Amino acid sequence: MGDFEPYAAGVPPARSVAVRWLGHASVLIELAGVRVLTDPALTPRLAHLRRHHAIDATAIEPPDVILISHVHLDHLHVPSLRLFGSEVATIVPAGAAALLRRKGFRNVRETRAGSSTELGPLTIDTVPAVHPSSRGPHSRIAADAVGYIVRGGDAVVYFPGDTDLFDEMGTWDAIDLALLPIGGWWRTVGEGHLDPSRAARAVELIDPRHVLPVHWGTYSPIGLGRPAWLNTPAERFRAELDAAGTGDRLRLVTPGGTLVLPPVEWETHREPAEDTP
Ligand SMILES: [Zn+2]
Repeated sequence: MGDFEPYAAGVPPARSVAVRWLGHASVLIELAGVRVLTDPALTPRLAHLRRHHAIDATAIEPPDVILISHVHLDHLHVPSLRLFGSEVATIVPAGAAALLRRKGFRNVRETRAGSSTELGPLTIDTVPAVHPSSRGPHSRIAADAVGYIVRGGDAVVYFPGDTDLFDEMGTWDAIDLALLPIGGWWRTVGEGHLDPSRAARAVELIDPRHVLPVHWGTYSPIGLGRPAWLNTPAERFRAELDAAGTGDRLRLVTPGGTLVLPPVEWETHREPAEDTP
């Protein structure tokens, strides 16, 4: 447990999910009255990248917990984490906590695939991801990339971080909302990522009720202006889902956009099948 101070219970559970995609892999998820923020990368510049959708971080309601999927600069981004103060509860893959503690963050807990964290009304399962573990070519910091399945209220949300396809994706039951990466900050993505076609295959494997595509259309290299391919991943993903017959799952928003999945949908979804005669 260390110095990790979990979210204090006491917030009444709400049977709805609201997610706000802040751009790239940064998603603010409100589930069972708890605010979960994934991989914040919110600054106008990030290394050699520029952001195309400004986000006013001061207008973001403080998250109860931040989930970090892996140590790449566009996912574990210290200046973006600092926007939420040094006390914010942060869950990171094993091997990454020392970096944040050195930077003054005091409420950091490590996790690894297969483990689970109880956080007030939420259960956060850590699942594998297939993605490079090193922070960068000249860095000694490394941590196995992970994804998270967040359960709370009456809904289940999957946040993969960055990953390629892997078999275990097909073994989870009842994912309500999958926040799938479909691109990156360049024209294409390589191995260890989902491109629109592999992301469509992930939808077949995971079989989520709703899919919100992320990790596209947000950052691109400085000097390119606004590249013509910025929104191509979303267009291709839509076409791939339509071709696979899963186009009705797509919930497409642009960076900064909000998606609210109303409680009534979740309740119909949860009718127990065993009781039917
Ligand atoms: Zn990455």
